[in-house]
Amino acid sequence: MKKSFSFYPGPSQVHSELPEYFKDAYDKGILSINHRSDEFVKLCQKTIHLLKQKLNIPEDYTIMFASSATECWEIAAQSLVENGSFHFYNGAFGQKWMEYSHNITENSKGAKFDVEEKLSFDDVELGQEYDFIGLTQNETSNGTQLSMEQLKSCRLKFPDRLIGVDATSAMAGVETDYSLADFWYASVQKCFGLPAGMAVIVCSPKAIERAESLDIRGRYNSLPFMIDMIGDFQTTFTPNVINIYMLMRVLKNSEEIGEVDAKLEGRMNNWINFFENIDGIEPLVENSEVRSMTVLPLRAEEEMVERIKAISKEAGLVLGNGYGQWKQSTFRIANFPAMPEKGINLLKDFFVENFT
Ligand SMILES: *Cc1c(COP(=O)(O)O)cnc(C)c1O
Repeated sequence: MKKSFSFYPGPSQVHSELPEYFKDAYDKGILSINHRSDEFVKLCQKTIHLLKQKLNIPEDYTIMFASSATECWEIAAQSLVENGSFHFYNGAFGQKWMEYSHNITENSKGAKFDVEEKLSFDDVELGQEYDFIGLTQNETSNGTQLSMEQLKSCRLKFPDRLIGVDATSAMAGVETDYSLADFWYASVQKCFGLPAGMAVIVCSPKAIERAESLDIRGRYNSLPFMIDMIGDFQTTFTPNVINIYMLMRVLKNSEEIGEVDAKLEGRMNNWINFFENIDGIEPLVENSEVRSMTVLPLRAEEEMVERIKAISKEAGLVLGNGYGQWKQSTFRIANFPAMPEKGINLLKDFFVENFT
């Protein structure tokens, strides 16, 4: 297989240093360490420390590891929702979270907002039966995002509810004020630039309190059980040790999140400007106030989308398919930190050569 660059928004292009990290892990015996051993405890502690430091996560928040973002939908529904959750969504991932919650807690509902709409909580009334609010920081399916200002207004409007945020395609890419919500999670195959099969959970003291007071312990991934284990820097199951190790190395090597965020914003603005000069291709989302900084879905005639996907693949450039209702009419470009400048330049050259 020829070397290619993947612009797929998950699983996505991984950091180019990974082969080196993997080899180090092999040489040091990390691939075979026991998850109850001292070596693992030290690795876990170090990784959590780096996550807090590099992503600006408050010191009193608790970080845990799970297997996927999908699993986190269920962890929240099982361990944090008392009577019901309410989900605001405008795309496939937010909707799926609501549906997964509903399977576990019947009184889990939601409200759909428009892709071009800037969600406001000003006129929203929520019954007291909804003790958990679910939001999606960056909707990977359609390339929209919630701003810190919007998350803050939700916090101020509903100070007594627990707020959960699916941060899968934002965490480690977007500068985030974690004090604005209680249960954040992301799988690592998006902005972290790592292989799939692990998720990071970030819990506020308020979420820990709720999990402990409900004290539901019926599952291997029931939060109270996970909280007990992470107190000793351990997990309830044999974790993805190689991914934790590579996460630690990637974090060690990464810039502060403010700098990463600024770089991605610059790159995204470049992409938007770039496509203004390509006839027949335009951003799916017109409203720049809600447009994502990490995922860019582009709209074109179906035949053109097909042609773009076919010939880009031949050129060693993998583009993301459209998602759900936009499957045929869009393609997506991930703007994640691990993509090297070289890949971006090759993709730009590709569009200039073939579509201008
Ligand atoms: C990719 C994605 C998921 C699903 O992640 P898995 O690791 O496959 O469970 C969930 N939510 C969002 C917003 C995503 O982008």
